[in-house]
Amino acid sequence: MLTETSLIILLIGFLGLLVISVFYSKNSEYLGSNIILVIISYFQGLIVGTIFYSDTLFLMFLLSILSGVYYYLLVAKLSILLPFIQFKWKNKAPATLDAELTKSITMLWGLPDNKIHISIYPGESVFKKMSFGFIDIYVGDEFLKNNSRNELLFALSHEIGHTKTPRRDSAYPFIFPFVYEIIIIFTWFAILFFGILNIFVYFIAILILFIIGIMISNYLAWRLEFKADELGLIKSKNLNGAISLFEKFFESQKDYGQILNLIFYDHPLPRDRIKHFKEIKLES
Ligand SMILES: [Zn+2]
Repeated sequence: MLTETSLIILLIGFLGLLVISVFYSKNSEYLGSNIILVIISYFQGLIVGTIFYSDTLFLMFLLSILSGVYYYLLVAKLSILLPFIQFKWKNKAPATLDAELTKSITMLWGLPDNKIHISIYPGESVFKKMSFGFIDIYVGDEFLKNNSRNELLFALSHEIGHTKTPRRDSAYPFIFPFVYEIIIIFTWFAILFFGILNIFVYFIAILILFIIGIMISNYLAWRLEFKADELGLIKSKNLNGAISLFEKFFESQKDYGQILNLIFYDHPLPRDRIKHFKEIKLES
C-alpha cells in the first residue's frame, strides 16, 4: 500500500502535470510542445498506474501503459475541446448554420431534415459531436469566414461520412485496448520468462508499449479519416473543393516523418489526404 504522504505527492504531481499539459496543448503545432505532451503523458501513465495498483507490479505495468496512451489522446485534443466546452457552457442554444446550406447538405446525402443539426461556434474547425438519433455538427465561425461554399460542403460531407463508415472500421478504436492488453500481458510474461525484470527494463518497456499504443490508436483514427474523406468526396463530388480545403492546412500540420506523424497526429497529413482524394474514382 502507498503511504498517505506518497499518495498526496503523486496526486499533486498528477495535477501539476495536468496544468502543464493544458498549457502546452495550446501550442500543439510546434514540435517541442508535441514532444513535451508525449513525455508528460508517459509520466501521468506511471502516476495513475502507481496510485491504483501499488500492490501488484503487473497491474501497475498494464495500467501505466493504457492510461498513458489515453491521457495523451485526450490532451492532444485539448486545444479544441477546452474552448468548445467553455462555449457550450455559456451557450445552451448556439446559432445554427444558414438554412439554405443545411438544405444543400441534407439533399446531397438524401437525409431527412430533422436528422441533422449544424451549429456555429467560435473556432476554426468543423467536427461532429457524439449524439443519439441525429447528426450533430459544429462549424467554426472562422472556418465559415476562411473557406468557400464548396469547401464547407466537403467538410460537412466528411463529418456525415464519419457516421456512415462501416461498423467494423468504427469498432476498431474501441476494441483496441482489449487487444492491446493481450500484447502487454504477453510482453510482461516474456520479461519474467527471460528473467530480465529490473527497474530499467520495467520503465523502458512501459515507454515502448506506451509509444506503440499511441501509434496504433492514431493509425486506426487515420483509417477512419480516410474512409470519411472517401465517403464525403463521393457524395459531394467536389474534388477541387476537397483539395483546396486541405491545401490551407499544410502549415498547421507539419510533416515530421511518418513515425513522428503517427505519434503526434490523430489526423493524417493534409498532403496524404489530397493524394488519397486523387485516387478515388468519382462517377460523373
Ligand atoms: Zn474526420
